[in-house]
Amino acid sequence: MTRVYNFSAGPAALPEPVLRQAAAEMLDWRGSGMGVMEMSHRGPEFMSIHAEAQALLRELMGIPAHYRTLFMQGGALAENAILPMNLLNTRRSGQARADYIDTGIWSQKSIAEARRYGTVNVAASAAGNGYTRVPERSTWQLDPDAAYVHLCSNETIGGLEHASEPDVGAVPLVADMSSSILSRPVDVSRYACIYGGAQKNIGPAGLTIVIVRDELIGHAQPCTPTAFDYRVVADNDSMFNTPPTWAIYIAGLVFKWIRDTGGVAAMGERNAAKSALLYGALDASGFYTVPVAPGHRSRMNVVFRLSDERLDAAFVKGAQARGLAQLKGHRSVGGMRASIYNAMPIEGVQALVDYLREFERAHG
Ligand SMILES: *Cc1c(COP(=O)(O)O)cnc(C)c1O
Repeated sequence: MTRVYNFSAGPAALPEPVLRQAAAEMLDWRGSGMGVMEMSHRGPEFMSIHAEAQALLRELMGIPAHYRTLFMQGGALAENAILPMNLLNTRRSGQARADYIDTGIWSQKSIAEARRYGTVNVAASAAGNGYTRVPERSTWQLDPDAAYVHLCSNETIGGLEHASEPDVGAVPLVADMSSSILSRPVDVSRYACIYGGAQKNIGPAGLTIVIVRDELIGHAQPCTPTAFDYRVVADNDSMFNTPPTWAIYIAGLVFKWIRDTGGVAAMGERNAAKSALLYGALDASGFYTVPVAPGHRSRMNVVFRLSDERLDAAFVKGAQARGLAQLKGHRSVGGMRASIYNAMPIEGVQALVDYLREFERAHG
């Protein structure tokens, strides 16, 4: 068996120790005589798996007691609808409206979906700079009566990342963290709600994480499906209906792996080193270009182009032959994208850097 260095944007590489443990427990989870996929979600075995995953996530992120962690389904795109259904009506006065920050394709999808449930004000957009920088906080046209301000912490396709939490005053801050959750320490108390699909930095597709401040729960619009009402999900401890049991189990193993390798702070240091190594090599060459401005670049999804796009296919083919997989950029932007989530070791990034130099020598 040969494992490649997998640069997929998602579903993405998982830590090898996690996969090994899951394989070892596949037929018989700790003497239960059953695999996790075969267990009742209400049985004591799975209940313990679920509770442990919840507790580990809270510990890793330092989630304060007045926040609920919900394990949901539907991915970030479903949450783009579920979230406004639940949070747009939290302001007692005025109509349901929210501010959104547009930094790329994923924020635009959030904006389009939220418009179905209320009034959306695009308070700032990176369109003016060609999506190469996060708009300066001083330029944001925020509405003090907005139910919340929404941003996408890390634009997985465009490779743009908010370097820190913006100050939005008393208005609740909401973030789609699908592709950056657990990649470095964040102060959860700065956010009213954090959500994201698991398949980038946590585990298998199918699990959606929602971390939401208690006081914002219980205001769902009447049209909200019962299974997606934060009140119902929270009151039933994310067990209103059958949860994605396998995904929760793997997520729990990944949380344990993060804890055992130093926690989110150590992860953040490793991710800083990995992205600095890769951007440094790209910037040092005249052959590759990075469209995103320094200071705004994603530490998770490194987007770059070759000097001549006619070489793209040869680049991808040569990479594949060296065990460097899934480097082709998203179909909407072209070029290359190296996703270097938590599970990507620095050796994988170094192997990519070596290949970048080799390819440039041969074709530059
Ligand atoms: C992948 C991704 C999504 C889409 O997630 P799904 O789970 O496919 O719905 C949304 N936002 C961001 C930032 C993403 O990276």
